Amino acid sequence: MAMAYAMDLSPPTFFLSPTSSSSSSPLRRLSSLPISTLHRHSNRKLQILCQATAGTQPQSQSSNLSDANSKLSARSGRDRLLKVPISKVRNFSIIAHIDHGKSTLADKLLQVTGTVQNRDMKEQFLDNMDLERERGITIKLQAARMRYVYEDTPYCLNLIDTPGHVDFSYEVSRSLAACEGALLVVDASQGVEAQTLANVYLALENNLEIIPVVNKIDLPGAEPEQVLREIEEVIGLDCSKAILCSAKEGIGITEILNAIVERIPPPPETADKPFRALIFDSYYDPYRGVIVYFRVIDGKVKKGDRILFMASGKDYFADEIGVLSPNQIQVDELYAGEVGYISASIRSVADARVGDTITNFSRKAESSLPGYEEATPMVFCGLFPVDADQFPDLRDALEKLQLNDAALKFEPETSSAMGFGFRCGFLGLLHMEIVQERLEREYNLNLITTAPSVVYKVHTVNGDTTMCSNPSLLPQPGLRKSVEEPYVKIELLTPKDYIGALMELAQDRRGEFKEMKYIAENRASLLYELPLAEMVGDFFDQLKSRTKGYASMEYSVIGYRESDLIKLDILINAELVEPLSTIVHRDKAYSVGRALTQKLKELIPRQMFKVPIQACIGSKVIASEALSAIRKDVLAKCYGGDISRKKKLLKKQAAGKKRMKAIGRVDVPQEAFMAVLKLEKEVL
Ligand code: GDP
Repeated sequence: MAMAYAMDLSPPTFFLSPTSSSSSSPLRRLSSLPISTLHRHSNRKLQILCQATAGTQPQSQSSNLSDANSKLSARSGRDRLLKVPISKVRNFSIIAHIDHGKSTLADKLLQVTGTVQNRDMKEQFLDNMDLERERGITIKLQAARMRYVYEDTPYCLNLIDTPGHVDFSYEVSRSLAACEGALLVVDASQGVEAQTLANVYLALENNLEIIPVVNKIDLPGAEPEQVLREIEEVIGLDCSKAILCSAKEGIGITEILNAIVERIPPPPETADKPFRALIFDSYYDPYRGVIVYFRVIDGKVKKGDRILFMASGKDYFADEIGVLSPNQIQVDELYAGEVGYISASIRSVADARVGDTITNFSRKAESSLPGYEEATPMVFCGLFPVDADQFPDLRDALEKLQLNDAALKFEPETSSAMGFGFRCGFLGLLHMEIVQERLEREYNLNLITTAPSVVYKVHTVNGDTTMCSNPSLLPQPGLRKSVEEPYVKIELLTPKDYIGALMELAQDRRGEFKEMKYIAENRASLLYELPLAEMVGDFFDQLKSRTKGYASMEYSVIGYRESDLIKLDILINAELVEPLSTIVHRDKAYSVGRALTQKLKELIPRQMFKVPIQACIGSKVIASEALSAIRKDVLAKCYGGDISRKKKLLKKQAAGKKRMKAIGRVDVPQEAFMAVLKLEKEVL
């Protein structure tokens, strides 16, 4: 059904193209609605709306929808810009452990409400970053406005997507703060996992109404009853009204939509107060500047308003405001309770950070919304271009990424072994991997990455305290009084068969046992406190491999503690290689030193001269290996005669090697810099 729609601004009128066959077209009904209830938008934007919504009705779920509802759902998609009273607005998010089906369920909700038509549906609409799609994780959160007709009354449902990884838990907490309710999705074949718990606690802190949903009931291994019992016992939620669904097969989707309307409270009516909105996401668009996603908490905002970001103190004119459905669609005004976006030619994401409050410049709110925090990087590593000429390109690329990622920090670093590069700070390991991969993929850079390190707090003898994120900058032993390192609280959920393996892993990593409890008959939760530095590296890989992938974990930083830490230096050919310096616990120094020198011996190619590889604490060598020289058989031409002729040739060769050693440089390959990481499997 090809239709062309046009809309005049005042008063709005609608035209159907002659090709349209339906006389009871949804647009007829739309035109009969009071004009005051319509958002006004330009023709161009309306076309975009129509592109996204015109088309066939969703079919696969029609068996689950009542006849009336399926008719309405097609209309709902088109009408989702219409205003509804605040009592008919519902803001919710979906919380789930990775792979429990959050994106699939979100896609289904968008389809069933007609927000996105089947033919426009890319799998996992909400994860629209290439990298996310490849890895199946949600990094950046987004929102979608849906319209759902319940008992003949239209409702506006705003789904706010949350990222699903511990590195981004602050962003999760902000998007939950923008909602009144949450769907708790648990996989019927897996049960409650560590991340489910962490996110539920965040939701409970924000006083959200939680609707338990058990997904994937179509799977042969599904045990919904058992999972419901787990949710009741572990989380303490009442599951008598839990919903069983299969996001893939479209079972139970209508029940979920009904529950959202019935059980999640509407936002409070605060449209008269001065404007306040909570930013839950922002991204950088190269053409329009930063686009900010927000939930209006109080008051209203109009296109053209002068807005102020309270934490950064920057003000801008709102060039464009709109809603996400899930594509951006312009509107003129947004009221308390609604979710939308602002484009205001903002130059950097740092001016409009997640958690900041937007207010009206001329009618300022008295206080900002609670919970604003600046992202602090937890993990640092050095990034150096393989080709020194690429240094300016690397700087440009990092600057561009920072526009979009306020948590990324970097500063120039030079090292005698690696040349010019940057020391970069990240929220966690996943964040670090993503940035590295984007630099290489999107900016075509060839990088050497040094082993990640955490930020240490160093107390010096003269009473100063400094933060040290680069092991090579740790003050000399004589100058420092004590060193503190960040600690995390870590919760591991595992089938009971693997408890022993996990306890061993945690103890090897200097973990302090805190608690163990059974959350179900054969699943246990282990609580440990351990240094973050021990988790940076292959902890997660080890956790998965020792438990055949069944265990899950969740961690949060709990503060700094003093430890007996020392700096381990590596000398190659008597030259200090700064990027290989690490900070280790004294008890582990010898084993790490030995393993590191052995690993480096394997990784560095043999040279024309003998190369000693040493691990030192201060000036004391604690482990040493030597790469033997490549030698030419200088005796080949000497087929007979006196032994002294052979000796003379060998002596000459030795002298040459000695001279070469004095002037020679050893090129350390990229793998060697990651050796510190790899060797953990063997030593730790
Ligand atoms: P997320 O990481 O929580 O967003 O999970 P996804 O939505 O990406 O789903 C993870 C995997 O589970 C995908 O392969 C989905 O196809 C699959 N999946 C999701 N829901 C269902 C379901 O109801 N039944 C079955 N059998 N598979 C599902």
